[in-house]
Amino acid sequence: MQTKETKYIVILGSLLSGLGKGGITSSILKMLDFYGHSALPLKFDGYLNYDCGTMNPFRHGEVFVLDDKSEVDMDFGMYERFLNKSLSGNLSITGGKLFSRIIEKERRGDYLGEDVQIIPHLTNEIIGMVEGVAQAEKPDVLVIEVGGTVGDIENSYFIEAMRQMASRRDVTFINLTYVVRIDAVGEQKTKPAQNGIRALMQLGIRPDFVICRCEEPLLEKTREKIALHAGLHKERIIDDSTQSTVYNLPEYFMKQKFDQMLLEKLGLERKLDGAKLEEWSGLVSSISKPEREVNVAIVGKYTDLRDAYTSVREALVHAGVANGIRVGIKWIESTDLENGGDAKMVLGGVDGILVPGGFGKRGAEGMINAIMYARENRIPYLGLCFGMQLMAVEYARNVCGIRGANSAEFDSDTKDKVIDIMEEQKSIMRLGGTMRLGKWSTKIGENTRARSAYGSGIVDERHRHRYELNNAYRELLEKKGMRISATTMDGSLAEIIEWQDSFGIGTQAHPELKSRLEKPSPLFVDFIREASR
Ligand code: GLN
Repeated sequence: MQTKETKYIVILGSLLSGLGKGGITSSILKMLDFYGHSALPLKFDGYLNYDCGTMNPFRHGEVFVLDDKSEVDMDFGMYERFLNKSLSGNLSITGGKLFSRIIEKERRGDYLGEDVQIIPHLTNEIIGMVEGVAQAEKPDVLVIEVGGTVGDIENSYFIEAMRQMASRRDVTFINLTYVVRIDAVGEQKTKPAQNGIRALMQLGIRPDFVICRCEEPLLEKTREKIALHAGLHKERIIDDSTQSTVYNLPEYFMKQKFDQMLLEKLGLERKLDGAKLEEWSGLVSSISKPEREVNVAIVGKYTDLRDAYTSVREALVHAGVANGIRVGIKWIESTDLENGGDAKMVLGGVDGILVPGGFGKRGAEGMINAIMYARENRIPYLGLCFGMQLMAVEYARNVCGIRGANSAEFDSDTKDKVIDIMEEQKSIMRLGGTMRLGKWSTKIGENTRARSAYGSGIVDERHRHRYELNNAYRELLEKKGMRISATTMDGSLAEIIEWQDSFGIGTQAHPELKSRLEKPSPLFVDFIREASR
């Protein structure tokens, strides 16, 4: 029996970053999924970091964590949210991973006698890694997103590798470009897009489709002009104008018959799973439907770059849909709640308060003030990782009366380290990939909020941290009314804590990383339900 061969789609961005390549890749994955074809993403990132774990969320956006402990680009969050599937770290190929493999091979003597070069050694390595993924996972289609922009030095070898691969495999190239609109005249200008397509052709790649990011729908004459320069039929120039929500994109593409044309090009069957599409479509349309709105304050320290909290924001959208309510977000820079910053002025009127994950001292006191405000005013509170740790610190200080209580992360001198470094972390010297990472099972106690939210006694969530609730303080916290509602399976680490007088939950995990439109995070759903009461 002949096994079917994986087909490849390669998505390349032109002109500028931030055009939403991740959304395009995710929408293509979703369209293929509607037709029952198994599709997986694969991402090339040119930076020399081995993974995203050592990057600053301020610069690069949030670090996304997979079940298998991989710390990957935030695009993986979008892939998972669209596909409603947990992915593996092998699908992320960075410059750092690639070069370390090459050096490893060279030192081993695999290239003995040769001078090791970008072409063919590095490009062959890329092709080998891509084919390896195809062989291991056997998807019908592998949708490869090339990070960066055509013309960058960083991704040039990835693009060259894909050009080479196209001579022996079935590869479809898609160019995402930008159509400029001059506001005064409202005219769409195609010259930059033309130059972008030409730059790609100079690298030996002719796109099979051109997707045009634009603010307003693509005008017919814009489409025709770009088609002419790309040497494509105008139907293959796809409109990617601004949508009310990114989740709308697959259907917007389908209205343009992009799904049909793509499947035809790939030589794949066109049998739509109507029920699947309908379910998705219903969820997407209910994002913008509700009249009623709750307002949630996110108190963090990277609020200037919203990308740092993308999964939290999306999890709130999902929880809103599940509750039939729109969730408005008030972004609060935690330092505004420090040095006499008045919590009532900053947080007054919000229906819920959320402190997300974070690292380091800056802004921590402001977050603690926000948590105190939530507790004293009985405003529903959700704490994620750092937000759970600070919830414990606040409780220790203000309810248990331990004035100097703090986290060892930013006050190593305090004698009351309510949050302390995990035992196994103490001897770790290397910072890359060494946190408590990935999927961990959690045991939830009966008659707790967490148990009723999850509806189950054992759940899996993803983690990324070095510090934990210090067990020496467990008894005192519990005596003073804080509930430790979940622990690791062996009971050794606290996983979820709760207030008892009002709604407040802190989790050491990052449930936002597993929240999807089709499967919202139970803790977020519960939080939004409480906030909307
Ligand atoms: N900085 C804290 C720790 O390392 C929390 C990490 C987080 O919020 N992801 O434990």
